[in-house]
Amino acid sequence: MPDDSSPKHPGQGFATRMSHAGRAGTRAYGFVNPPVHRGSTVLYENCLHRREAAKHRYDQVMTYGTQGGPTHYALEDVVAEIEGGTRCLIVGTGLAAVAVPLLAYLKAGDHCLVPDSVYGPARSLCDGLLKGWGIETTYYDPCVDEAGMRALIRPNTRVVYTESPGSHTFEIQDIPAIARAAHAAGAKVLMDNTWGIHHFQPFRHGVDVSIQALTKYVGGHSDILLGSVTVNGEEDWKAVRGAASQLGQYASPDDVWLALRGVRTLAVRLQRQEASGLEVARWLAGRPEVLRVLHPALPSHPQHHLWRRDFTGACSLFGVVFQPRYAMEDVMRCIDGLRLFGIGASWGGYESLALPTTGFITRTAGTGDFGGPMARFHIGLEDPADLIADLEQGLRRLEG
Ligand SMILES: *Cc1c(COP(=O)(O)O)cnc(C)c1O
Repeated sequence: MPDDSSPKHPGQGFATRMSHAGRAGTRAYGFVNPPVHRGSTVLYENCLHRREAAKHRYDQVMTYGTQGGPTHYALEDVVAEIEGGTRCLIVGTGLAAVAVPLLAYLKAGDHCLVPDSVYGPARSLCDGLLKGWGIETTYYDPCVDEAGMRALIRPNTRVVYTESPGSHTFEIQDIPAIARAAHAAGAKVLMDNTWGIHHFQPFRHGVDVSIQALTKYVGGHSDILLGSVTVNGEEDWKAVRGAASQLGQYASPDDVWLALRGVRTLAVRLQRQEASGLEVARWLAGRPEVLRVLHPALPSHPQHHLWRRDFTGACSLFGVVFQPRYAMEDVMRCIDGLRLFGIGASWGGYESLALPTTGFITRTAGTGDFGGPMARFHIGLEDPADLIADLEQGLRRLEG
């Protein structure tokens, strides 16, 4: 397995870095945490001072509320540390973090490659606004190899978008191979790294821009929406920061502060949820009602070798394919009667969730058949034995 050490703090463990990154230093009257800074107008001593500051508005120099303030900068530093990048931009939602780099790099006449397993609302953006602006998207099989990616790239392909594992179906992509093909053609590699969090270090594998929905595990308590765009170089920083500024992207400092609070327990939550998720996934994989479990950390996963090669761990979100003898209605009846699992979108909070996925996902590159009706499970911080007992009574309802 690769190591997950930090370029800035080599040798330090993830939990240590999450405890120390983005702290207030001496700027908060000695308190441990940065305060919530709210503000629109920033005042200057004189006009010259203001003119000088404006030159550094992308460098954590406060010029106006939309460029962020100390609370934002603290979280930006933490997320850059999580992702192993040089700079990070915090935006209002995970979806805004998807949109900003796409808009930064694509213009009319350009072509974009997007995996068929992409997060649904990202597909809506490509098929909606981007298409209307004359940007063409081709959806590709997420399991494409380097030669396959080379064949998909056109002279006007500017962005190769990736998401690994894929939303709902959990295909692990060969990011280094895809990045080699993309870079050989001068295209940017964007990645939605929400599932991987710190378990996948995007910039060591050829990614140019990494996207996270901080709404998920970083927030961790199902009470905020936030996104991040992280880069590993000044050129990409100018591109994404400039696009976000032009679009007026901003995040509430109160939400940012809650994310900073979430960060302090991130390592321990992830560790516990990874273990609980695997326990539940393994139990489900052994049940006769289940055809297969789509969890990259299980050896039965088709791209388990890529997960082992590139990831240092897993989160607690995975898919389940039920035996084909069941109908989607049977699976919905099973989920409806679960007592500890909520039925709802999103994930990464402290609570467990279950969601039918068959019929809710769009596939256009022929990668949608997994052999039976499917559901997605998120394992929270409950006792896994209680979750398993709940699932056991749920599975009995599959038979009607
Ligand atoms: C939830 C999610 C997003 C979007 O996050 P929001 O904050 O809900 O907009 C993006 N990508 C993935 C993979 C997600 O699961």
